[in-house]
Amino acid sequence: MTPDPRKTTLIAGLRRQGISDERVLAALESVPREAFVEDAFADQAYADQALPMSCGQTISQPYVVAFMTQALNVDAGHRVLEIGTGSGYQAAVLSQLCKRVYTVERFRTLAEKSASRFKALKIRNVTQQVGDGYKGWPQLAPFDRVIVTAAAKDVPRALWEQMVVGGIMVIPLEERAGKQDLYRITRTAEGVEREHLLPVRFVPLVEGLPKGSET
Ligand code: SAH
Repeated sequence: MTPDPRKTTLIAGLRRQGISDERVLAALESVPREAFVEDAFADQAYADQALPMSCGQTISQPYVVAFMTQALNVDAGHRVLEIGTGSGYQAAVLSQLCKRVYTVERFRTLAEKSASRFKALKIRNVTQQVGDGYKGWPQLAPFDRVIVTAAAKDVPRALWEQMVVGGIMVIPLEERAGKQDLYRITRTAEGVEREHLLPVRFVPLVEGLPKGSET
């Protein structure tokens, strides 16, 4: 099959912007982003930009997905916990690189939509749950990697506790109102090491489940 020229351009752009992990680039190449964007934005699926989706949420910009995936340093044996399934795109990219992705979303509508996308694309190593990601997924812990795709004020304790020693978490934090930064948190035998990666813009991580009509 000839590659979609828009996709080739996007991947070349990611390379130019410093995404150098070939496995990450191959994963982005293999997942059809058009299957994860709303129909109205299908023609923009390979533009390097975030796009709106239902429930007032956004599918992240491809560069940010690639950057976070690279920073997570995933390997084929890993079990990865994602908070904020959203469209399912980030989980689909991760599914190409690890053993299994466990992903938590607070909106049932989004979880169901992403489930049908995984099914259509025959992605079978993603396990989903509707729930509050602040709590992680204690029944299935520990995880080798944790990725949070919505901005929190600080690192939710449960997520840190559910990671193996040596585990890596990539998370956007909004420690001061209006200013978000992406961090890589490594769990060490002594505690945590924290590394600043880059300024970002994510929807907020919201505690608890939506009420009634909001789901
Ligand atoms: N990873 C997504 C990006 C989603 S945007 C993608 O690839 O499309 C962030 C998502 O986090 C939204 O869908 C939002 O509903 C969800 N979210 C916010 N707070 C949450 C919480 N406490 N638990 C689970 N999901 C949450």
